[in-house]
Amino acid sequence: MNIPLGDYLKLLRGYLRNERGRVALLALLIILGIFFEIANPQLVRLFIDEAQADADYARLVGLAATFVGLAMVRQIMAVGAAVLGESVGWTATNALRGDLAAHVLGLDMAFHNSTSPGALNERIDGDVTNLATFFTQMVIKVIGNGLLMIGVLIAVARVDARVGLAIGAFALITIAVLVRVRTWGIPYQVANRARSAEFAGFIGERLSGTEDIRALGAVNHTMWQLDTLLRAWYPHNWRSGMVWLVTFFVTVLMFAVGITVALWVGSSLWQAGLISIGTVYLIFSYTEMLRRPVNEIRQQVEDLQRASASITRVRDLFALKPAINDDQARPPGPSVPSAPTVAFCNVTFAYEDDAPVLHDVSFELPGGATLGLLGRTGSGKTTVARLLTRLYEPKLGDILLAGDSMRHLPLTVLRQRVGLVTQDVQLFNASVRENVTLFDDRISDDAIMGGLSGLELGEWLTRLPDGLETRLKSGGAGISAGEAQLLAFARMFLRAPGLVILDEASSRLDPATERLLDVATARLLQNRTGIIIAHRLATVQRCDYILILDHGRVLEFGRRLDLALNPASNFYSLLRADLHEVLA
Ligand code: ATP
Ligand code: MG
Repeated sequence: MNIPLGDYLKLLRGYLRNERGRVALLALLIILGIFFEIANPQLVRLFIDEAQADADYARLVGLAATFVGLAMVRQIMAVGAAVLGESVGWTATNALRGDLAAHVLGLDMAFHNSTSPGALNERIDGDVTNLATFFTQMVIKVIGNGLLMIGVLIAVARVDARVGLAIGAFALITIAVLVRVRTWGIPYQVANRARSAEFAGFIGERLSGTEDIRALGAVNHTMWQLDTLLRAWYPHNWRSGMVWLVTFFVTVLMFAVGITVALWVGSSLWQAGLISIGTVYLIFSYTEMLRRPVNEIRQQVEDLQRASASITRVRDLFALKPAINDDQARPPGPSVPSAPTVAFCNVTFAYEDDAPVLHDVSFELPGGATLGLLGRTGSGKTTVARLLTRLYEPKLGDILLAGDSMRHLPLTVLRQRVGLVTQDVQLFNASVRENVTLFDDRISDDAIMGGLSGLELGEWLTRLPDGLETRLKSGGAGISAGEAQLLAFARMFLRAPGLVILDEASSRLDPATERLLDVATARLLQNRTGIIIAHRLATVQRCDYILILDHGRVLEFGRRLDLALNPASNFYSLLRADLHEVLA
């Protein structure tokens, strides 16, 4: 077992820094609890011995009352320790979850493309959950259990050194045996967890695809796959259950042997007249008392193994640094034009190293003008939009906004100035208001209504059952593609970026929604630089410039009017060809 101790200490120090007081209190409660636990059998022993010696009744009642009082104080302290432990643990791990989530949101798209949502969930939540007990309880409990064992052994050794040695040896052997049993069982449980993760992944994916699965008649096949998965899972589940049972039986067996030995030694010493009956009880009781620390230490060895893997993974995740960062950023100048010029200078780009998607793309769009971007599917139109929001970075060449390289703009400023409406708009399970403002509640209702009616969406809004408070379902269920686009427009309108990029939905919209979208587009582009990735020629009719991409290369760039009048241009042939065939 390889425990990254340095990383562990760093995490502990970092996330418990503000919790020092509560951690100290927790340690105090746990250690006091141990002290009481060891003191308890001593009282009972005293009681038994005095009762046997026919002690005064009042004294016996006094002893019993002390016992009950101590037991109650101990319970209260145990509850306090549990509450504190949970609260410190959650505070620390939630801070870690937050940091990890923020870190991951800042990572490059390349990372997100190669990491599935399920895997990310596991890394941000699963790993951290593994660390939860580790954070608070680990140190305190390991020390506490160690102290409890030592305390018990000293208490027994004071009665009789030989019995102390015997019980000490018994505790060590039991821990060693249990750890061995666990080590034997771990591969079975890892295999079982892997199957369970696979199953969860399968269910998640199929549930989100319910519509397609039913529409395409794939229900039987899906059920068959489910059956296969369950069948493969069963033996692993069975074996992992057996591991648990074996561990349980070994523990019971070891303690049965231990207590038999304790009682046997105790009774022979008593028969020899060396100890009192109260002391026999004491020996029995202390042996029994070892059950908890022995079990917990075994548990902690297991936790430690799990946590060490998690700590390594958390550290690796934090070590990932985004390649797209603010290293070259300068403080933004005060006089940035509200509608910047956009220039691509010999931009070459590839998602994966060996397959360039854009080749040597150059064009310049004056501030305030609108560019219609055309090209077959897969020609790289969306990629141009992603480069402009700096979700990716050109491999060669540069992109200039208002005459300055995009790298010089801090990312937060860039993303305020460039707005992108994507092909499939992401809607959240929240109200229309929250979807439009993206949860920014500083934006007033008036501003939202102004924005919506500015886009001619006021009428659409009145048709919604609860107006701005209408709840949208996640993933945009219950809302048409056109309406989703309209909402995305409203988002843009409120953010008021200087450059607006619209990646038109490639699905066909009904004529009424299309008209609404056209009006909204015109409003949105007023006094702004705009790039419209068009799937319909009707959309580009209002553009000042046209750029046609073909396999990632610029096939044609120019003023729309010039191109439309030039019979030699591709745009000219496009206008005359069957548009559906050319563009769809
Ligand atoms: P459409 O009209 O269908 O929207 P598009 O012109 O927008 O097409 P892009 O999405 O820019 O095309 O894709 C250009 C090329 O890059 C395609 O060959 C596509 O397979 C590839 N591509 C797009 N996104 C990625 C990605 N995240 N990782 C790897 N390759 C990608
Ligand atoms: Mg696209």
